[in-house]
Amino acid sequence: MALTVVGSIAFDSVRTPFGERERMLGGSAVHFALAASFFTDVLIVGPVGDDFGAEHLAVLSAHGIATDDIEHVARGKTFFWRGHYEHDMNFAHTDETQLNVFAEFEPKLSRRSRESQMLFLGNIQPELQRDVRRQSSASFAALDSMNLWIETTRESLIVAIGEIECLMLNDAELRMLTEQPNLVHAARATMELGPEVVVAKRGEYGAVLFTDDGSFAIPGLLLEDVRDPTGAGDSFAGGFLGYLDAVRIAGGHDDRALRQAMAYGSVMASFNVEDFGTERVSSLTEAEIADRLSAFKRLTHFEEAPIVR
Ligand code: AMP
Repeated sequence: MALTVVGSIAFDSVRTPFGERERMLGGSAVHFALAASFFTDVLIVGPVGDDFGAEHLAVLSAHGIATDDIEHVARGKTFFWRGHYEHDMNFAHTDETQLNVFAEFEPKLSRRSRESQMLFLGNIQPELQRDVRRQSSASFAALDSMNLWIETTRESLIVAIGEIECLMLNDAELRMLTEQPNLVHAARATMELGPEVVVAKRGEYGAVLFTDDGSFAIPGLLLEDVRDPTGAGDSFAGGFLGYLDAVRIAGGHDDRALRQAMAYGSVMASFNVEDFGTERVSSLTEAEIADRLSAFKRLTHFEEAPIVR
């Protein structure tokens, strides 16, 4: 099985209360691909500029991620994002966004990328997401976005959401998109646009899954070291879709697999936030992933018991 991802391939400059870093490897597609690579074969699609070196490509290839559909634009500059976090690390403050090579990007998916059963349309302009969706023959496509695109390209985003099976947004973005203050109503309103699965990401508080069968919630792991939350949402999506692809679930009707995927998404997001950029996830081991899955089970498991008085 294979999973294709399109989204930003970026350099990020980030400041948090725990330090700062300049021009780290980042971007929605990169964070997603690294997390998903622990579960399935991943193909990454997107443009980079002259400033994207062999050492950056090597981080992806070291995880077996197929980079053939990364387009090198001569004399171009790679997407750049600068942001910071205050003490509430659930909210990223954007200081600068340079689309650079993404402004002119016309995706052309190779045959292999088109044929993946699963597709992730990571955060990028909705028109690009639509273009990739049209080229792909995936039976299950998921989409992420952000406040910038909700504010500036709302109509295209709504059309893009109508063309996918699974929507993965932050709770605040779901409320903003639907203008519904209640999360359940917001999720149901987006399901009416098309997706059969909606995942509301809630930062350190975890995530909620909505399908026709009902909902499922998982908390965030209570971590002592959180240094940089950038990419947590994409790492969640990578664990979630990577697992679904590995167990060959391409649809919203396998409740058991969707719940397990929510747990793996949370596991990957919890690692992502422990260090800056891609540092923690790119050096992870399968044993660490398995241990953390057990930690989630211990955190959430309880036996149903009647009241005794
Ligand atoms: P998240 O998982 O939401 O924390 O995503 C973080 C990543 O999104 C960073 O690595 C940024 O490079 C990327 N990013 C920030 N703004 C944008 C944007 N407007 N379009 C696409 N990617 C973005």
